[in-house]
Amino acid sequence: MEQLKNQTLLASVLIDGKGQQVFNPFDNSLLGTVAMSCQAKIEQDVLDLEIGQKAWQKKPAAERCRFLKKWHQLILENEDDLAMLITLECGKPLKEALGEVRYGASFIEWFAEEGRRAYGSTIPSATNDRTLLTVKQAVGVAAAITPWNFPLAMITRKGAPALAAGCSFICKPSELTPLTAFAVTELAYQAGIPKDVLRMVVGESAHDVGEVFTYHSSVRKFSFTGSTLVGRKLQMQCASTIKRTSMELGGNAPFIVFDDADIDHAVKGAIASKFRNAGQTCVCANRFYVQDAVYDEFIDKLVAEVDKLKVGNGLDESTDIGPVITKEAKKRLLDLIEEAKGRGAKQVNKDVQLEGQFVAPTVLVDVEHDRPIVQGEIFGPILPIIRFEHEDEMIAMANDTIYGLAAYFYSQDMNRIWRVAHNLEYGMVGVNEGVISTEVAPFGGVKQSGNGKEGAKEGLEEYLETKYVCIGGLER
Ligand code: NAP
Repeated sequence: MEQLKNQTLLASVLIDGKGQQVFNPFDNSLLGTVAMSCQAKIEQDVLDLEIGQKAWQKKPAAERCRFLKKWHQLILENEDDLAMLITLECGKPLKEALGEVRYGASFIEWFAEEGRRAYGSTIPSATNDRTLLTVKQAVGVAAAITPWNFPLAMITRKGAPALAAGCSFICKPSELTPLTAFAVTELAYQAGIPKDVLRMVVGESAHDVGEVFTYHSSVRKFSFTGSTLVGRKLQMQCASTIKRTSMELGGNAPFIVFDDADIDHAVKGAIASKFRNAGQTCVCANRFYVQDAVYDEFIDKLVAEVDKLKVGNGLDESTDIGPVITKEAKKRLLDLIEEAKGRGAKQVNKDVQLEGQFVAPTVLVDVEHDRPIVQGEIFGPILPIIRFEHEDEMIAMANDTIYGLAAYFYSQDMNRIWRVAHNLEYGMVGVNEGVISTEVAPFGGVKQSGNGKEGAKEGLEEYLETKYVCIGGLER
């Protein structure tokens, strides 16, 4: 960790002894070791946060706003170090990591302001002796579990609205990427956010932490970002204490190119959407559908661009695609390619085998709709393409999945744009855009991609209760 300019970032968390070891996916070198908490310690954290929340909630929203703005500023002042940490532990190219830091910070600034606008309402009463109103109050202690693919932004996208609303916040990052999580928490403390209001924990196992977060009755809100498989289980655990939940789960985004699309623009969008973080994001385009008339043109232009992408160490400025997160992830991806090829799919770009944890970008055509590569979440730099003729048949294939997170399509026809956007069963639709996430718009899925929204005004509501107050016995 000697690369960091600000040595205070991890000074209090790196230990020499036994703990959670963190490795660099580029070369599997050991980056550092962080302490792990047992269940009893995490239960104590929750109780501390329950006390801390009461005082935090009493602070005027404007004061919480000032703490959050200071945190935002410190993150930007330390953006190079944070980006370096993201690249080291998650592998994504440095330029993308810097983008994540700024994206992650933008939620803190946004919710610092939104917290000041947590308006209630007055309700016209049917009788003159009563006044009816609603007030917004913090839910209480909020707990979260986040994945490795956005080691910083998934934390701030949950933590910032929680703190702005007046909740306290405890979070478990992925054991693969805790360094960024602890560094960003240290900056929150430096900004003055109290330690009994914000905590980051790594447990002896994810399962142990999940149990405390979901079963503990003092945790009133649970927010999860990760796979549908794990989310389903955690949501069931939350039922035992009727917790409020937000579930940001897996996706299987279709990317559709209609025959009236601007093909150059669609190719650009496809590259941006598919290969971000080596294809390891929940909103990455997963499967591509291209209409007959533009099929050959799209593939020719796409392959020309894909073969220019450089795979390598994320710290190298020219790298477009870094390593995938683990050896197991690489094996799963190579198996998916083999399975599709075994059923007639053909690779149309350069076929390159890479050593280490790298997977070369792979464009496959003649893929069958029912193959695992189309039906499941790929989470890697593989781009399967299916040809289609009619819009109706296309919409049916796009919706034929348990997922409903993001979908993309390219068309220049205004009627088609409205129609298709309406008919896609997804929480987010990008029209002539391959990258659509922003702090000002609601991010979230439908179907088994989850529930709840992050970002935008909706993101704050996830951490607020609406209390109805009826004042009776009045004279008017
Ligand atoms: P994952 O296996 O579900 O893990 C996500 C988080 O859950 C990690 O912190 C993990 O801990 C923890 N976890 C795993 N098993 C657990 C259990 N039994 N109890 C409690 N916690 C448990 O998913 P992943 O492979 O890390 O992340 C990729 C997935 O996240 C993809 O499906 C992707 O689509 C989804 N994702 C969704 C969004 C969204 O906004 N919708 C955004 C990003 C990613 P450890 O890592 O420490 O084991």
